[in-house]
Amino acid sequence: MEDIDAIVIGSGIGGLVTATQLAAKGAKVLVLERYLIPGGSAGYFERQGYRFDVGASMIFGLGQNGTTNLLTRALAAVNVSQNAIADPVQIHYHLPQGLDLKVDRVYEKFLQNLIAHFPHEEKGIRRFYDECQKVFKCLNSMDLLSLEEPRYLLRVFFQRPLACLGLVKYLPQNAGDFARRYIKDSELLKFIDMECYCWSVVPSDMTPMINAGMVFSDRHYGGVNYPKGGVGQIAQKLVEGLEKAGGKIQYQARVTKILTEKGKAVGVQLANGKVYRGKRIVSNATRWDTFEQLLPAEEMPLNEKNWQQNYQKSPSFLSLHIGVKESVLPAGTECHHILLEGWEKMTAAEGTIFVSIPTLLDPDLAPSGYHIIHAFTPHWIDDWQELSPSEYEAKKEEAAGRIIDRLEKIFPGLDAGLDYLEVGTPRTHRRFLGRQDGTYGPIPRRKLRGLLKMPFNRTAIPGLYCVGDSTFPGQGLNAVAFSGFACAHRIAVDLGF
Ligand SMILES: Cc1cc2nc3c(=O)[nH]c(=O)nc-3n(C[C@H](O)[C@H](O)[C@H](O)COP(=O)(O)OP(=O)(O)OC[C@H]3O[C@@H](n4cnc5c(N)ncnc54)[C@H](O)[C@@H]3O)c2cc1C
Repeated sequence: MEDIDAIVIGSGIGGLVTATQLAAKGAKVLVLERYLIPGGSAGYFERQGYRFDVGASMIFGLGQNGTTNLLTRALAAVNVSQNAIADPVQIHYHLPQGLDLKVDRVYEKFLQNLIAHFPHEEKGIRRFYDECQKVFKCLNSMDLLSLEEPRYLLRVFFQRPLACLGLVKYLPQNAGDFARRYIKDSELLKFIDMECYCWSVVPSDMTPMINAGMVFSDRHYGGVNYPKGGVGQIAQKLVEGLEKAGGKIQYQARVTKILTEKGKAVGVQLANGKVYRGKRIVSNATRWDTFEQLLPAEEMPLNEKNWQQNYQKSPSFLSLHIGVKESVLPAGTECHHILLEGWEKMTAAEGTIFVSIPTLLDPDLAPSGYHIIHAFTPHWIDDWQELSPSEYEAKKEEAAGRIIDRLEKIFPGLDAGLDYLEVGTPRTHRRFLGRQDGTYGPIPRRKLRGLLKMPFNRTAIPGLYCVGDSTFPGQGLNAVAFSGFACAHRIAVDLGF
């Protein structure tokens, strides 16, 4: 490729949305991916007739209406689409003190379920979740593009002044402040903490209201939808669209260096020594990998150092990819579950267990008569370092045994019904996803003012942009798609497309 407009390092959903948006505008785009397939944390792998999602499987952004259905929009922009299967329940919670609760797709039904547990807090529950709906209505009424582009900001302000003012109000706020304003019951506040923790991996006090508003409302609007054929399909389809639009992707192309000239990013170097030059460079690697590995750590720009003082790496996960006999799942089992036995363990390693059973929505992902259970729980890489191969295997087996024992409570007979088991650790996440320490992404070191400190796509290095979960607005497929739309928009304006 001659005269490349943008080189994108990495084909996670953030990188692919940037690439496809730019290609759709006529830019010449090259994506360089270190692994064999696209998708990163939204990729997949196949074993013995099972197709496992690497990570994500509770998917927002595949709805049909509004403006926040960013995955649907990203696919449509390059003339591809993805069939999606509606999930009637977002999560079935199995929480301490018998707090057993389903988050129904229908908003009022969810509220009724929660109010049945906390009837004395009906007013507070409604006020808190209605406040979240207000955030969502603001977001869902405008095109979501680059907040670093003044003319766009001016345009949306004149088109939707009230929505914009609403967002300015919520931007520096955290969900916990609203929860505490409306709700007094300490058990219910712990539930709100879990509602936030299960995707932001921090309690409500540290979870930005903008993100909470999105998740707590969109699940009742566009809903949670599972992509037919597995989550990996989204990236595969984006690549198909990218290539149709004239873009290119190379696999097994690990970038080892971002090349700069006179302080400006001008190209990249691969592990095999090959060099590509482009007008703009986009990194879909985490900010830690970008500024500590791909660029010299000792030359880290001041604003990146400040960012690292505000944000730290969240833990990674211990992941169990399980194939089981269908008889293990009781009738009426939902697709997503969260299990926690004691509130004090919510944020601890092996505290909260997340479970997805995608074959309940798409049976074709497993051999007939079997289901996939993906169970994962936070774990830090430090606990998995400096082990001999046999110690590592033994540690994996012990940890998997503990998780399976706990899951027996909701799936009796799980151990006996096992057909396949593969265990991933933080080391696996680091190796296959190319993410430092296998981290799930950035989390605030302390309570910050909402999303105010989260960086957008431009960096202190001219010509270099970041996209993905270490940019505004953070983790999750729909969130990184937002970051991709914003990144492509900013680059398109910079390049005059
Ligand atoms: C276990 C788990 C469960 C999750 N569950 C959900 C969920 O249910 N719903 C949800 O919405 N989100 C979920 N997430 C989060 C979601 O998957 C991520 O936030 C999102 O996929 C991150 O996308 P990204 O574009 O930032 O980057 P990544 O997915 O990290 O992709 C980055 C890509 O860049 C490549 N790369 C990195 N460095 C280089 C290099 N030097 N050269 C070339 N290529 C490189 C990597 O190989 C990778 O393909 C989950 C994540 C995990 C790990």
